[in-house]
Amino acid sequence: MVSSERQGRELPDPEQELQESTDYSQFVSAIPLMVNMARHGAENEAFSYREFHVGASAYAVKFDGSKPPIVIGGANYKPDQDTPKYCAEMDVIDHATEDGYDHIIGMVIAGTDDPEEIRAVMNRITPTLHPCGACQTKMDNSRLITPETIIVTIALDSDKAQIHTFDDLKMVYEVEEQAGNAIQSPVAELDLANWGQREDAFDAITQATADVDPVRVTRMALSSTVRLED
Ligand SMILES: [Zn+2]
Repeated sequence: MVSSERQGRELPDPEQELQESTDYSQFVSAIPLMVNMARHGAENEAFSYREFHVGASAYAVKFDGSKPPIVIGGANYKPDQDTPKYCAEMDVIDHATEDGYDHIIGMVIAGTDDPEEIRAVMNRITPTLHPCGACQTKMDNSRLITPETIIVTIALDSDKAQIHTFDDLKMVYEVEEQAGNAIQSPVAELDLANWGQREDAFDAITQATADVDPVRVTRMALSSTVRLED
């Protein structure tokens, strides 16, 4: 179901399905590295005339396996008010595209969680910094981003995060526009210091379920409060 909805992809054969589950397992394992890269981008590479620093990372794959999966890091760049903004999300999507990757399984975006700083750039307050309107449009138009691409938005100084698929994110903003009400997705405490628990949760769920939707399991593993018994 999930795979068949992907643009330009044929229905997967069982081998491909297996590969996909492995891709998502590796994506879950890569999250602490991806968070580090996104925070590093925000702290060391971002350039903003108004000190608004955002970093991002993307986990990109090539369908034919001719290149191994890769994590690409990036940062925002806005040297002055008159230069068009170039967001961290745009940076990683452009790099992945230029490097010939086919699909971004997931992204991490690290930015401020200060409500007033978020309101100043987004005209709304969200628990974590979401992709802006221009980035959402770019994601919509990118062949690397699908409705299932997982978007992890995380604070710079804490593990407070929100987990959306790109489809979820669009829905939140569309409903908000129509209803005029802010809709807040749940906030997860990623607890990166104990990440092995989430990897174990992903493996436990995929092994226990015969017909696995790796996107759904990944979202569960990332957004749930995970406490496994020893
Ligand atoms: Zn943006």
